[in-house]
Amino acid sequence: MRHTLVVATTNKGKLEELRAMLESPDLCVLSLADVTKRIPEIVEDGKTFTDNAVKKAREVAKLTSCLTLADDSGLEVDILNGAPGVRSARFAHERATDAENNAALIAALDGVAPPEMRGERPTARFRCVLALVDPFSEEGPHVVEGVCEGSITSAPRGSFGFGYDPMFVVDGIAGREPTMAELTDAEKNLISHRAKAWQKLKLVLEKVLAARNERIAKVLS
Ligand code: IMP
Repeated sequence: MRHTLVVATTNKGKLEELRAMLESPDLCVLSLADVTKRIPEIVEDGKTFTDNAVKKAREVAKLTSCLTLADDSGLEVDILNGAPGVRSARFAHERATDAENNAALIAALDGVAPPEMRGERPTARFRCVLALVDPFSEEGPHVVEGVCEGSITSAPRGSFGFGYDPMFVVDGIAGREPTMAELTDAEKNLISHRAKAWQKLKLVLEKVLAARNERIAKVLS
């Protein structure tokens, strides 16, 4: 049976990455814009990525009556005590562009990097929390998390991806030291925080779809 799944985001970068991961004959993946002209303003006031992901998934599942996947994610820089964190999308100001947020990150690091750190890149990680809500089931929300370790460059590099990708040097890619924005979409989708969260969610989603199929078969029998 084919199920409709709504991705509760208006962020094009996230949507494209999640669509590539969710591609399956069992799913018809729709964006929020595909299902409603009146996109709700969901205030992301949670203290954690999990709080925000669950809030977005619950609200959109209620609004659309569809199986809903929400992503809350961001960058945590150690020397900034985990900032931008849950404020990643709004680090420069409420309606900031990616370029403004990247400039704000460079400025914040200029202010705190001690002389002994100059020349060394500040350590950081991308974190992604995915929350899945089935509005017709009492189980859930189902929540998984993925992390990608790295460090911050002094100047942006690369043109793929979105958000802080040009500022983030991925750990563990021997010899190249690319930023996330220098990886192709396919390369990013193998190693990113979102890909790691998705690897965990895949198993959960299989069970959620099986339970839906069972419920539908019962109703039809
Ligand atoms: P959210 O919509 O509150 O989850 O905000 C996510 C923000 O975190 C985005 O606007 C980006 O600034 C940043 N972010 C999340 N995931 C990524 C990624 O994969 N690459 C680069 N930046 C990301």
